[in-house]
Amino acid sequence: MSRVLAIALNPGDAEALAAFCQAIEAEFALVDAAGDAATDLGATRILRLEGEIPPADALAPFVAELGREAEIIVGVAHMAGKDLLPRIAGLLDRPMVGDIVEVLDKDQHRFLRPIVAGNAFAEVQVEPGPFVATVRATAFKNPQRGGDSPVETQPAPAPRSTQRVGVSEAKGGRPDLTQARVVVSGGRPLKDAETFERLIGGLADALGGAAGATRAAVDSGIAPNDLQVGQTGKIVAPELYIAAGVSGSTQHVAGMKDSKVIVAINTDPDAPIFDIADFGLVMDLYDAIPQLIERLRG
Ligand SMILES: Cc1cc2nc3c(=O)[nH]c(=O)nc-3n(C[C@H](O)[C@H](O)[C@H](O)COP(=O)(O)OP(=O)(O)OC[C@H]3O[C@@H](n4cnc5c(N)ncnc54)[C@H](O)[C@@H]3O)c2cc1C
Repeated sequence: MSRVLAIALNPGDAEALAAFCQAIEAEFALVDAAGDAATDLGATRILRLEGEIPPADALAPFVAELGREAEIIVGVAHMAGKDLLPRIAGLLDRPMVGDIVEVLDKDQHRFLRPIVAGNAFAEVQVEPGPFVATVRATAFKNPQRGGDSPVETQPAPAPRSTQRVGVSEAKGGRPDLTQARVVVSGGRPLKDAETFERLIGGLADALGGAAGATRAAVDSGIAPNDLQVGQTGKIVAPELYIAAGVSGSTQHVAGMKDSKVIVAINTDPDAPIFDIADFGLVMDLYDAIPQLIERLRG
């Protein structure tokens, strides 16, 4: 059995997990529930699950059984990972370290993880022995590639007490928020869903990017829930993040501060978002965004 059992739940997870395993110089076997894992990421073997992936209450005992002999069972710290991995830790009675962003000492199992909505970092050390972990995909990227892992397939376990009633995909054909190279986010001043779509969606489309939102925008019904960026939403780190009408609360910033270039558009020159912005535009977004869209399209 490999030292590490990695579980890929969403597209793109396998790369992040491979990069983490390379950072701790560990061999890993991969359970591919996402179905897109490449075979050149260095896994000793890949177990691809076929059919519909069940909710976490049925997947957890299945993965726990596979990982009983593994030193580390690891997944990505997104919604699905945060649902699954703690259950596995509970089932196997193992300690868990969540949200790893840096490996400080691979032998002592000392890691860095953000706390207080990303405003501080904690160094955590796991007691000797097996443990369960989640890693931030934005912190582990571009694994070295090579080899050709053997792939086995197995039917996904059947659902238990929880049934998935339905899955609906977000409309619009924009790139996934967590994978997009450009994210344009809007806040409370967008007024309504139609205005949000016209301005934030319009600028996102002009840049080939994804649309994001603050929790205030989501709570006011301006933007759908799955667009929320932040502590209780999605964590993103695109090449370009444009925040329009976003105050820059600690909870929002926790989800986007690792973006490479941050642009803020805000009427208030003292808005906290300007503290972390690389470029700031003190302007009404209702003037600025139509002009930007026109220039980009023109
Ligand atoms: C436990 C907890 C978790 C949370 N999690 C999240 C989270 O994950 N994500 C998140 O975003 N929030 C989260 N929040 C909410 C967070 O605290 C803020 O309330 C929220 O981020 C504010 O959203 P906003 O910037 O859209 O609104 P506001 O704070 O109202 O800011 C609006 C901004 O727009 C500017 N503005 C107004 N009109 C215009 C205009 N015409 N043109 C340009 N600028 C204009 C204003 O100057 C202001 O800076 C959380 C809160 C709690 C308590």
